[in-house]
Amino acid sequence: MYWDKTHETMDRADLELLQLARLRETLQVALNSPFYRERLQQAGVTPENISSLEDISRIPFTTKDDLRSQGQALLARPLADMVRLHASSGTTGQATVIYYTREDIATWAELLARSMYMTGLRPGDVFQNMMGYGLFTGGLGFHYGAECLGALTIPVGPGNSQRQVQLMQQFGTTAVHIIPSYALYLLTTFAHMGVDPRSLPLRLAFVGAEPHTEDVRRRIEEAYGLKAYNSYGLSELNGPGVAFECPEQKGMHVWEDHFLLEVLDPQTLKPLPPGEVGEVVLTNLSRQGMPVLRYRTRDLAAVEPGDCACGRSHRRLSRIQGRSDDMLIIKGVNIFPMQIEQVLMAMPEVETNYLVELKRENFNDLMLVKVEVREGFFKEDLRHLHALQKKITAALKSELLVTPKVELVEPQTLPRSEGKALRIVDLR
Ligand code: AMP
Ligand code: ZN
Repeated sequence: MYWDKTHETMDRADLELLQLARLRETLQVALNSPFYRERLQQAGVTPENISSLEDISRIPFTTKDDLRSQGQALLARPLADMVRLHASSGTTGQATVIYYTREDIATWAELLARSMYMTGLRPGDVFQNMMGYGLFTGGLGFHYGAECLGALTIPVGPGNSQRQVQLMQQFGTTAVHIIPSYALYLLTTFAHMGVDPRSLPLRLAFVGAEPHTEDVRRRIEEAYGLKAYNSYGLSELNGPGVAFECPEQKGMHVWEDHFLLEVLDPQTLKPLPPGEVGEVVLTNLSRQGMPVLRYRTRDLAAVEPGDCACGRSHRRLSRIQGRSDDMLIIKGVNIFPMQIEQVLMAMPEVETNYLVELKRENFNDLMLVKVEVREGFFKEDLRHLHALQKKITAALKSELLVTPKVELVEPQTLPRSEGKALRIVDLR
């Protein structure tokens, strides 16, 4: 059940002592980097004068801009000690580059092995990795983790959907790593090929890399006949393997022996109590080549209150509700794209794809929501379609407080992405 019982179930008091010791070690390592040497000196922070975890508030934040502008000045070891680099997918702007030593790669693989073991992956499983290999951390991160655990790993990467299905059939794939929007899309390939995904030995899916709702998870679980586990991470902190769901599926355990978690009010930057949504701020506690301190992820989530029934002591993070920088302001109202998905995916008539276009007409914001409708419904007469359109408009209006223009389109007509889904097009 546990990969590393000692660390996973550690008493909170002991875990916090371990965190403090590792935080001080990490500060010592970070002082070797020109960037942090200067930053920490300016703030008057030394490993010695951090005497409790609360003292972390004295350490300055690190932002994506810092990583972009400082580049190799963040390295805490000579470049010759680095064995790999990755770059963030750059969903918001230019990519940032992350370097790893050999030990960093090994620690990262252990974290993913621990994460997948937690959900029930074991040697003997066949793991098909449909995440992008290359600069993106999702592919190689899980690849090394699955090998470390001892699962037979198929390094197929994303796309080429027919081949994905054939590989599953040929090798008896039992576990997949897949972007949730692609998992939904792949169902149409199964349908075209006349293969029922539920007839395959699939039993586990690791889904992550992009925000998705509980309804999307349920749709994936039902259509494939498996358990889908949410996986969270970001390249700035390693990549995937920062937080992962356990079989309880009630939030993602943040591996607190390797990451220090803060959830802060994005305005005041003060800590928030469990249950309140704020910005996730993370600090590496075990990285050697390029430790990152108090990284402002811009991801919004809450710590789940209470203990987890699985016995792990590491705190759980809620689903990521979106990023503070992808909040939309439409007619002065703040809207998060996940609110739109929540409304749409709760409706059985709606297919798995949608696209939101924002326009400005006569100085007015216009929100156009294009929604794919299930095959059966599209064959209905116009009256039914009109009623559905009204129903979706009303549901969106009640959630968002803005009235969108809803356009129903036929299934499989909106653009698809093999990587993170593109759901919002802002033409303003
Ligand atoms: P990258 O650094 O390119 O790997 O992208 C990391 C970002 O992807 C995170 O900061 C999140 O915004 C997003 N992300 C990763 N995993 C999840 C997840 N499980 N749910 C929601 N968003 C995620
Ligand atoms: Zn748990």
